[in-house]
Amino acid sequence: MEMKARQMVRSFIAALTVISAMSSSGLQAADPNVVVIFCDDLGYGDLGCFGHPTIATPNLDRMAAEGQKWTEFYVAACVCTPSRAALQTGRYPIRNGMCSNTRRVLFPNSKGGLPASEVTIGRMLQQKGYATHAIGKWHLGHLPQYLPTSHGYDSYFGIPYSNDMDALPSAPKNKLKFDEPKTEYFNVPLMRGEKIVERPADQHTITKRFTEEAVSLIKNRGDKPFFIYLAHNLPHVPLFVSKEFTDVSRRGLYGDVVQEIDWSVGSVLNALKDEGVADNTLVVFTSDNGPWRSFKQQGGSAGLLRDGKGSTWEGGMREPTIFWWPNKIKPGVVMQMGSTLDLLPTIAAVSGAVVPTDRQLDGHDLSPALFADGESPRQDMFYYHGEECFAVRSGMYKAHFKTKTSYTGQKAAVVHDPPLLFHLGHDPSEEYDVAKEHPDIVEQLRKLKSEHEASVEPVENQLTL
Ligand code: MG
Repeated sequence: MEMKARQMVRSFIAALTVISAMSSSGLQAADPNVVVIFCDDLGYGDLGCFGHPTIATPNLDRMAAEGQKWTEFYVAACVCTPSRAALQTGRYPIRNGMCSNTRRVLFPNSKGGLPASEVTIGRMLQQKGYATHAIGKWHLGHLPQYLPTSHGYDSYFGIPYSNDMDALPSAPKNKLKFDEPKTEYFNVPLMRGEKIVERPADQHTITKRFTEEAVSLIKNRGDKPFFIYLAHNLPHVPLFVSKEFTDVSRRGLYGDVVQEIDWSVGSVLNALKDEGVADNTLVVFTSDNGPWRSFKQQGGSAGLLRDGKGSTWEGGMREPTIFWWPNKIKPGVVMQMGSTLDLLPTIAAVSGAVVPTDRQLDGHDLSPALFADGESPRQDMFYYHGEECFAVRSGMYKAHFKTKTSYTGQKAAVVHDPPLLFHLGHDPSEEYDVAKEHPDIVEQLRKLKSEHEASVEPVENQLTL
């Protein structure tokens, strides 16, 4: 008996020594898993927890209640490709050639893509020993050298670009007639790894299948910590929904699609809980750009924010964003600035991965706000329209030097000199120009813009190749 007790004490001390060695070397007992859920063209006002009156999103509402809802969270571009490049690299897309004034996103006939020299979140975590998976829309190049599997992801299952591309002659020319779009109108490929496994992809089932893929990866995870980038192709027009979610929403087809995504979020969070890994997993939910307003009721809503996709007004670039990590993130509403640019450094901080140090990063580690009641380190935001910085925010003030609403027929940008100035706290809808009252702030923002622009080194444009 005495010997057994001694053995037990010895094993206990050995276990303590291991734990202490791990913490002194900076390693955590278990590296946290990370899931980033990224929607396409979801508006700031399209979730119940962000004020939508007729779209029911109980799972996202619960996620927000259990986690943090960020009300001033930005993407770094108002259209798909550059926004995604910024999320993956923590850099404004002007730094890696992933934005253009002429071809604003990549198309099926594009030859370019995210350069091999760029370090994605996937690559960063793969190098740290994570299992890394990309699901859904990529839109950073569909040629083999640009696909997720060439950019730090162990696996990929999804449509490599937008769901309205590869339109066939049978598709109605007027997309406003897409009240009931057909899968066969769009010859978009569904890929696994670098192979096409279905064409045209049955878009009615993509949200469901992307979700099943994520849940399966969670359930069948190995010993490694995992990173899942789950980028839904929807609610980008044309809108597709599975049978189970047809006619479920008072908002109509667009609401059905968002409610299916809400179900998807619930399925992923439930899988994490069921597998007992929720307490060790950071989940982030957001979208790539604002609502596609030119599609009227088929597009979403930016709520009280002005304009939508394709513009540098707030509605184009501020996104409904939720962070979730049970027993780690203090639940609440964060009314401070954050950006998808910040995900790479934040994920590096929580995982112990190393951020690239040989290049200019534009992201900040949001840990102080997420975990410690502290301030978000993000104090400014540059709003890009193609290759041009149209607007700058610092603190509560935002100056517009140019404005353009690309998708509603405005052909040329309007130059504002002096710039328009809005106080986003007092006037989140950007209705009341206060430039005349604050010439000093206008000058500060002008200087900030010049300094930022001077930091950009010319690179080959990938979108016009
Ligand atoms: Mg988009």
